[in-house]
Amino acid sequence: MALLDGKKLAQKILKELKKQVSRMKKKPVLAMVLVGDDPASSIYVRRKGFFCAETGIVSKTLKLPADVSEKKLLKVISQLNKDKNISAIMVQLPLPKHINKIKIIEAIDPGKDADCLHPENYGKFAQVDESYSVVAPATPFGIVRLLEEYKIKIEGKHAVVVGRSNIVGKPAAQLLLNRGATVTVCHRHTKNLPAFTRQADILVVAVGKKNLIKAEMVKKGAVVVDVGVNRVGKKIFGDVDFDNVSKKASFITPVPGGVGPTTIATLLWNTVQLARLAKATAKRAKK
Ligand code: NAP
Repeated sequence: MALLDGKKLAQKILKELKKQVSRMKKKPVLAMVLVGDDPASSIYVRRKGFFCAETGIVSKTLKLPADVSEKKLLKVISQLNKDKNISAIMVQLPLPKHINKIKIIEAIDPGKDADCLHPENYGKFAQVDESYSVVAPATPFGIVRLLEEYKIKIEGKHAVVVGRSNIVGKPAAQLLLNRGATVTVCHRHTKNLPAFTRQADILVVAVGKKNLIKAEMVKKGAVVVDVGVNRVGKKIFGDVDFDNVSKKASFITPVPGGVGPTTIATLLWNTVQLARLAKATAKRAKK
């Protein structure tokens, strides 16, 4: 078994970004909108800010109370859309239940959509592939970059994705499909989950349930990508029983240190590409 080391890949991506940012006169600015005081969300935003600083990207965090109205949040986004100094916007999910997440995502200018969640950006890679769009969905793109970094063949393989959320499961399935995998997507209503996971050459698990995937549910030699983040006290666990599954897998991501760091690196990658695109567009408009 070999580890798919997300930390190492993230460092490589961040190093490349640092180089790109150092050549930019006007530094990219990422606005992060944080609603409420969910401890995990606050940690994610702080971590993203830390890596922005490492690469030279300017980060701005806008904290709003948990009871902020949808109207007020839409106004904040509209102001960020108009602000020429902001290159990219990221709204930290989940949002409180009284706010319509889809409405908020649709309000972000697609040219500033750091998470690649806006239907216009999402539709581009679903219709063609992600090379057609300047941004890519952060977690799924981090996963395929990790597979590619370790020269894991995707084309012709059977990929099984457990979870069908808009931010991980569905776009991960799409990116694997774009690369020629035969994809099965499982979810809460899937009957006999082990019958599907056992068929996987590449198994991606994004559910949020500690130890959901046990060794007997995995084929020998499978590549296992564990997206899950489950906090127990101060420790973090994935969705996969790492100790036992790692004895059967050919490659596996650790939690922490797997998908998490590549997600942040991809988000920052998107931020820099959006800033470059805005600069190129402004230059063309001047001519
Ligand atoms: P989500 O929106 O809650 O989606 C979870 C998915 O799991 C749903 O599609 C659900 O099915 C499915 N599911 C639930 N119980 C299941 C079961 N027993 N068997 C099969 N499928 C089941 O979560 P998410 O946003 O995709 O996140 C998933 C996990 O990844 C979470 O732990 C999250 O913290 C983590 N995450 C990590 C990163 C990172 O960077 N490392 C990024 C994003 C998310 P239904 O649709 O049928 O309900």
